[in-house]
Amino acid sequence: MKISKKTINLLERRRYVFYFLGDGMGLNQVHLTQGYNSALGLPSVPYLDFPVFTMITTHSASSLVTDSAAAGTALSTGGKTRNGSLGVDADGNRLVNIMELAHAKGYGTGVVTSVGVNHASPAAFYAHVGRRHEYTEITRQLIEEPVIDFAAGATILIQRGDTLKPEDYVQRARGNGMRVYCGKSEYAGAAKGERVLYLSDRLDKKYIPYAIDRKEGDMSLADFTSAAIDYLYPNYRKGFVLFIEGGQIDHACHSRDAGNCVHETNDMSESVRLALDFYARHPNETLIIITADHETGGLVMSKGSYELHPELLAGQKCSLESLTAQIAELRKSKPEVSWSELKALISRQTGLWDSVPVSAQDEKRFTQIYKESFLDMDGAVEKNLYSANERIAAECLIFLGGEARYTWATSSHSGTPTPLYVKGAKAMEFISCRDNTDVPKVLKKVAKF
Ligand SMILES: [Zn+2]
Repeated sequence: MKISKKTINLLERRRYVFYFLGDGMGLNQVHLTQGYNSALGLPSVPYLDFPVFTMITTHSASSLVTDSAAAGTALSTGGKTRNGSLGVDADGNRLVNIMELAHAKGYGTGVVTSVGVNHASPAAFYAHVGRRHEYTEITRQLIEEPVIDFAAGATILIQRGDTLKPEDYVQRARGNGMRVYCGKSEYAGAAKGERVLYLSDRLDKKYIPYAIDRKEGDMSLADFTSAAIDYLYPNYRKGFVLFIEGGQIDHACHSRDAGNCVHETNDMSESVRLALDFYARHPNETLIIITADHETGGLVMSKGSYELHPELLAGQKCSLESLTAQIAELRKSKPEVSWSELKALISRQTGLWDSVPVSAQDEKRFTQIYKESFLDMDGAVEKNLYSANERIAAECLIFLGGEARYTWATSSHSGTPTPLYVKGAKAMEFISCRDNTDVPKVLKKVAKF
């Protein structure tokens, strides 16, 4: 069969780009996860064998330690900005992002995240605002401007002082001609020309449940990713750019919860596997990029001795936030909770005193925290950027990570460079990337956006 010149041109122009962002996923987060998987006989982190691997710097225009807004802007536009800004440069001038370029050339576009669809990282791929918490304006841009064809995330975050609810924005999106679905059971896809907003069925929750806490029927990042592929592939003959964020790796690391970090990192890999399945069917046209906006927690793979024991994290059955909720339930159920009751709950959910021994000295420290936070009610709660947790729960999970020999330098972001893994069509071009702004610049060039 003779293939016409027109067909060859079309094939050459066809591009499928999967752009993954593990929020807070530094190199050590990836290798903590790989160490765990290897110790437990689980499948390897699927991008460790990608042909391109390099490290990129992440500093913003205002700080050597970036936030997700400035880093997202760098990764989507190739321009540096101040921490907190989205899609504009340090002077407030609008920057063009790769979604706008792809959309203008007739490619489909999608953003998928496990956190709010208007949270900083996904918003960096469509919004232009001075401050990341201007959710009202970010949401307006998502709904009213036609750049993003498929947007999915836990909910719509509401700006402080805004009297509207996520449900009101759902109505606005529908009024603007978008197909909106809340929850897996509602989802019914859409035809070309119909833009999609896919949210979870719990609009009151800022995030979908952590993978480690997920129950039957809960939404997952992979649910959103597979819906995005099923929508974009048949509707955009020319191809698409799909941004996918594992948004809660960052939250686990802010909480210094190593076990949760492993499960969230593995959970994003489920979506990477969907991209790899797609790649297997379209190897010449598919490009898969995996990177992070910054590292969170200053995760250290050592505690002085020459050993690591990631397998000790296997006894952990829930996130810090879930353990906090369970302890709060216990508090509510009776006037006074004894140490032995609390210890039994913590042991069941973390493996401490069971698969992981606790010395008498460490237990003494825990009983002191119990005494302060349960009997004296002093400093019961430990706060970080995304959650307020029971102090005893936070301390026990940091202890568990420490027994596995993984420790944290901070409960915030660090300035360490982040990894970049690339596979697929023209992947080798990305080997030159040294800074986060290089990634969209190379992408623009190879995808001819
Ligand atoms: Zn963060």
